[in-house]
Amino acid sequence: VSSSLSERVDAALRDVQDFPSPGILFKDVTPVLADGQLFGDVIRDLAERRRGSIDLVVGIEARGFILGAALAHELGVGFVPVRKAGKLPGAVLGLTYDLEYGSATVEIHEDAFVGGERVLLVDDVLATGGTAAAACELLEQAGAEVVAFETLVELAFLPGRERLAGREVHSTVVVP
Ligand code: AMP
Repeated sequence: VSSSLSERVDAALRDVQDFPSPGILFKDVTPVLADGQLFGDVIRDLAERRRGSIDLVVGIEARGFILGAALAHELGVGFVPVRKAGKLPGAVLGLTYDLEYGSATVEIHEDAFVGGERVLLVDDVLATGGTAAAACELLEQAGAEVVAFETLVELAFLPGRERLAGREVHSTVVVP
C-alpha cells in the first residue's frame, strides 16, 4: 500500500514541544527538506497545482524561502522574498501586525512588482495566520494579485484559515 504525500510529510515532520517558548508545539520541517525524494515530491505536487497560473512565487522568511525558491525554479518563474524588518537593502514597503505579545513587521522591495502579477505566497507552517495575512495585504498594496497561499503544514487548532478568509488556502498536511 503506498501512502499519500500528506501521510509521508506528516510522518517526516518532527514535533518539538515547548520550542521556542513554553506551550508551543513546533512543527519542524527540516526532516522533509533533508529527504531528497520527499522534498522533490512536495515541490512537484505544489508545481502541478499552479503550473501556468502564476507569474511569481513569493516566500515568507525563512523557511518559505526554501520551499518558494525550489517551487519557483520548478515552475520556471521568479521568486520574491517577504522579509522581516530591516533585512532588505532597497526601498521597502512594510506592514506591522499584532502578535500575541507585541508586534512584527514584514517588508518587500517596493519595486518588486510592476502591478497585476499573479503571485503564489508560500510558507512552511500556517499557525495563527498573522504573518500570512500581513504578507497578503502587503503584496496587494504593492500591486500584486495573490492567487493563493500554500503551506506545507496547517495547524487547524489555531485560527489561521479564518485570518485568511476569502482567500484560497492549501496545505499539504492539516494537523487537527
Ligand atoms: P503565524 O503568523 O502565527 O501563522 O506564524 C507563522 C510563522 O511562524 C511561519 O513563518 C512559521 O514558520 C512560524 N511558526 C509559527 N508557529 C509555528 C509552529 N508551531 N511550528 C513551526 N513554525 C511555526
